[in-house]
Amino acid sequence: MSTEQTEQIEQIEHKDELFSFDDEAHPRDDASEANTWRVLIVDDDIDVHQSTGFAMANTEVFGRQLEFLHAYSAAQAIEVLREQKHIAVILLDVVMEADDSGLQLVRIIRKELGNSEARIILRTGQPGYAPEMEAIRDYDINDYKTKSELSRNRLYTALTAAVRSYDQISALNASRRGLSMVIRASSQLMARQGVSEFAAGIITQICGLFGLPPEGVVCAYDEAHSPDQALIIAAAGSLTNCINKQLDALPNHAIATALSRCLRERINNYGSHSTTLFFPGQAHNDMAAYLQTEKPLNELDRQLLEVFCSNITITLDNVQLLTQLKDHAYNDQLLHIPNRLAFVHALDRALSEGNLSATTLALIDIDGFSELNDALGHQHGDALLRAVAERLQHRLPTDTLLARVAGDVFGILAATSVVTPANLCELFRQPLQLEQLSQNLTATIGLTCLDQIDGNGADALKAANIALKHGKQHQRGKICHFTRDMEFETRARVRLLQELRSAFDRERLFVVYQPQIALANRQLIGVEALLRWRNDDGSFVSPSEFIPLAESSGLIISLGEWVLRNACHDLRKLIESSGQTLRMAVNVSVTQFRQPNFIEVLDRALAESGIDPQLLELEITESVAVLEPSFMIELLNQIKTRGVCIAIDDFGTGFSSLSYLEQLNIDRLKIDISFVRQMEHSDGSRRIVETIIQLGKSLQLELIAEGIEQESQAQLLTELGCHEGQGYLFSRPLELQALQAFMQVPHA
Ligand code: C2E
Ligand code: MG
Ligand code: MG
Repeated sequence: MSTEQTEQIEQIEHKDELFSFDDEAHPRDDASEANTWRVLIVDDDIDVHQSTGFAMANTEVFGRQLEFLHAYSAAQAIEVLREQKHIAVILLDVVMEADDSGLQLVRIIRKELGNSEARIILRTGQPGYAPEMEAIRDYDINDYKTKSELSRNRLYTALTAAVRSYDQISALNASRRGLSMVIRASSQLMARQGVSEFAAGIITQICGLFGLPPEGVVCAYDEAHSPDQALIIAAAGSLTNCINKQLDALPNHAIATALSRCLRERINNYGSHSTTLFFPGQAHNDMAAYLQTEKPLNELDRQLLEVFCSNITITLDNVQLLTQLKDHAYNDQLLHIPNRLAFVHALDRALSEGNLSATTLALIDIDGFSELNDALGHQHGDALLRAVAERLQHRLPTDTLLARVAGDVFGILAATSVVTPANLCELFRQPLQLEQLSQNLTATIGLTCLDQIDGNGADALKAANIALKHGKQHQRGKICHFTRDMEFETRARVRLLQELRSAFDRERLFVVYQPQIALANRQLIGVEALLRWRNDDGSFVSPSEFIPLAESSGLIISLGEWVLRNACHDLRKLIESSGQTLRMAVNVSVTQFRQPNFIEVLDRALAESGIDPQLLELEITESVAVLEPSFMIELLNQIKTRGVCIAIDDFGTGFSSLSYLEQLNIDRLKIDISFVRQMEHSDGSRRIVETIIQLGKSLQLELIAEGIEQESQAQLLTELGCHEGQGYLFSRPLELQALQAFMQVPHA
């Protein structure tokens, strides 16, 4: 370009406002908004710029004026393209600085600038410089014309075709971009937790889609309310202070009207300055959003919003689901108070906040709840729990955290000055009122101040639980403070249980048999199978120590089955070796009875050993009374139909009612060792023994006394009418071989 030409250009720059690509001088950078089609002329020949401008002056294409931008070199063209958006058509000179400047520029536009929308019409003065067909295809060139060919009409036709194709391509691209924004916006919304946060996200995401400052409200309503009573659950911009108020609290009545109309008509509404969108929710928990959009939205924007709305309606369902899930995860669904997980989180926070001595944790366990539940039904149990939760909420200060941490165990986290024994004792002093029923309750309470805790919330809960368990074992209905000793005790129990498991695995357990004798002639009539655990050092662990542990841990299920099979097996051996028939009594704990497959286990033991079922007796304790009577009666009947006998062990120590006893199909009562031991010294014990014997007779049950150590005890029992006995007087429990030897010796 000559200096003369450059000066001319500068003059034109000043004259022609369309020329400039300086934003300030030409603030309208949005051609689609300005309703023009932007055409960039790239040519080093000024005449071409001018003649094109003149030829096309005041020409409209599809209802819009053409707006010309000018560049006189490839470099200038790149600059214009970098700064100006929405250039629809580029009229490009093929030969400028170099023979292939134009084609080089096309490559840069498409590849480097990434502009695939602008339509390109190549022009050249010299026909011989036509580009290769491949270049036309590869660089997406619309047209190739020699300048002489471009009469006004031809130019118009070429521009019109190029503009049409630009319009289509840019619309397609805009919706593609819009859709991907919608997808991004909805997935960001999905990350919101809870409906209100989600609603706030709707405002920011939609305003973000249109590049507007967030200004709007979202309201929600449910079937119980009318749309006019919808609640504002999120707001942005000047309306923020309306959150959690009803629509009529909005300062602008038009907004309230638009929202309630939207909720009633259940459709989106596009106004000239605002947009109201409808989001159907689950079970008519619908939402509506009002957004200040400042200008009418064009067709594409509306379509995008429709896609956005239907997309986030699905998201809204998910959010509602997540909110529900969260509610289920942290709240007790029956009592609508925090659950164990929420309680542990709160403990974690309290433990990390310091001043631990000021906060105390209490666990409140309702005494005998499961019995009440079984006896009066689950509905009554639920009502009882509700009444307890209500009582606790009323009696404790409002900043107390109350949670349900297990079936009938409530957790309280409060100031140490509040959770005092005196206050806790007061809680259930008055009976609870359940509909027409007045229910007296006691509770066992485990307590620990947080300064006793080494560790996190779960450790704190464990400590309070240790105190609670200790309380339940030793002082029901009382308050039990956690101490380190209890922790040691618990650890010792855990260790003992581990050792028991390993002893069982390593066959360190075995069964001994204690003879049962006919008191009249001292003949052996049966044996009781008793479990033994010998340590590696030869010492014994007492069953009274490990059986309760095996029961509470469930290990008794496999242990009990093993004893039963051994006992049946050994009975067969005894009968075969001695030729005598003999009864075999086996202890069975409640936990075993609870197992749905107990009858199968029994049948298997009988079948495997091949013994006569009538020779087997199961000893159960009165603690079976905790089982549902109908279940128990049915189970005992099933046992009885096999011919197996049932004895009630340690009789007189439990609390079973006589009417219940009568309903159970049993054969024998086993008078507890404590009465036998005491009966010669205490009138009370003697009377109890007499009563049990009378009771047995009237119910036509057999009787056996256990723990007979003295001849005088055997005499007295015989006089009172008890015919059978078991005890050290006759024999200690014996291993199989010793028992076989015992059986060889006449005992009369
Ligand atoms: P139990 O069923 O009442 O067994 C009688 C207990 O009294 C046995 O204690 C026995 O050794 C003891 N005994 C018998 N005669 C005398 C006596 O003259 N004087 C004294 N002082 N004690 C006598 P052991 O073997 O220590 O068993 C204790 C409890 O452990 C049993 O009481 C039973 O409830 C339970 N047990 C033992 N083996 C099993 C078993 O295999 N399964 C289940 N579920 N429980 C078992
Ligand atoms: Mg027994
Ligand atoms: Mg006993």
